[in-house]
Amino acid sequence: MIDAATESRFLDRIHYTTPSGCWLWTGTPSKDGYGLISVPGRGMVGAHIVAWEVFEGDRDGLFVCHTCDVRTCVNPHHLFLGTPADNAADMQRKRRGTNSLTVDEEAEIVRLYAGGGVSMQELGERFGISKSLVCKIVGGVGTGAKRLPVTQRAEVQALARAGELPQSAIGARFGITQSAVSRIANAEV
Ligand SMILES: [Zn+2]
Repeated sequence: MIDAATESRFLDRIHYTTPSGCWLWTGTPSKDGYGLISVPGRGMVGAHIVAWEVFEGDRDGLFVCHTCDVRTCVNPHHLFLGTPADNAADMQRKRRGTNSLTVDEEAEIVRLYAGGGVSMQELGERFGISKSLVCKIVGGVGTGAKRLPVTQRAEVQALARAGELPQSAIGARFGITQSAVSRIANAEV
């Protein structure tokens, strides 16, 4: 249970007025966007978990999930208890996987990466996906050199072989990676 001092620290940092009815925890969020509050003897605990314990009581070891998808929300009416399986399903639903990125977002990731100067890690953070997913998306376009229409492949190859533009610039123009350009340049079209 939450001690009185922690409870009052918790209550002091809630912003109650949002059009959605969310009560936003205004403390420092965790890296993955959940509110965090230190609880004596327990270290840093999710603010939504503390919210459940303050407003609803014991959670019987169950997970506290959001119905509103707002990770910093601590409105008990937007929270429900779930089993580990519910929680995993919930996380899965919310995680922005490759399937939930829009085509434009994927293209943007490829374009940014092909442009250089930004790491997969940074792109993952910017788009809220894992580095390995960025790798798949970027790499997908690498192998996806095959996905370019033949006419464009021919154009890429001609440009690359002409040697007037760096391969990275050609890649950026066609939305593919430098390594994909290199492969096309060295392959039969
Ligand atoms: Zn909410």
